[in-house]
Amino acid sequence: MKRTVTAILCLILTLGAFTSCAGCGKHPTDPAAKGHDYLPQWSTNASHHWHACSEKTCTAQIDRAEHTWGEATLVKEATIDSDGELKSVCTVCQRSKIEYVEFKNFESSFWADLAKASNYENYTLEENTTVGEVYASAIYSFTAATVYLTNVDVNSSEMTTEEVGEATADRLRSYYTSLFGTLIVLGEKCEFFPISRGFTSEETFDVTIDGKACKVSELMIELNEDLKARKLAFVLTDAENNTTKYEINLRNYGTTVKPE
Ligand SMILES: [Zn+2]
Ligand SMILES: [Zn+2]
Repeated sequence: MKRTVTAILCLILTLGAFTSCAGCGKHPTDPAAKGHDYLPQWSTNASHHWHACSEKTCTAQIDRAEHTWGEATLVKEATIDSDGELKSVCTVCQRSKIEYVEFKNFESSFWADLAKASNYENYTLEENTTVGEVYASAIYSFTAATVYLTNVDVNSSEMTTEEVGEATADRLRSYYTSLFGTLIVLGEKCEFFPISRGFTSEETFDVTIDGKACKVSELMIELNEDLKARKLAFVLTDAENNTTKYEINLRNYGTTVKPE
């Protein structure tokens, strides 16, 4: 009798091991894993999806596979201030993921608009140049009617302002607007430089400035809060191989009042 009881117990235990879910004890676990009460909805993590057993303590799962990401769609355009967002959805479980896209550069139209001469009316242009060891600084104020030139004595820091003649004013206007236009349009070819809204390029560009063929290298363009040019820096090399290092700071003063 004792032997019979032991045999039955053994049989129950053996059967139990094969027919009960190890986790929840309620579900049979035949090799095909039939008998678990799997949830109809998908369980997911960042990389996989699966159907989990409805019993919380049971770890059994079926249909486990890596997500099958559908084609990513751009849900938010990258701007100079914030990353863009690319959204992908798993075609099986519908889980979505967002990937961030860095801002690279503006469209051509942005650079073309920025280069328009009309952007630079009533602006002050501070031009610092270095030729060899010689540094010079001058400030031009372009109003609708005239151009004022403030010379800065580099040694004494003394400033003197005078109105330039009409012919000179016209020449300066056309020189700088053509220079800006040329440089700013080159911004399209620059790589984005994420510090202080700057664009910079390692390339050397062939340009025509004031009717003369020159080369521009070490180009750097900085934009202000309104996305207008604030600073242009570059090295200009003329046909005779003379190089001048330029740093031009632009400031819109918004009125036609003669500068102090
Ligand atoms: Zn289970
Ligand atoms: Zn999935």
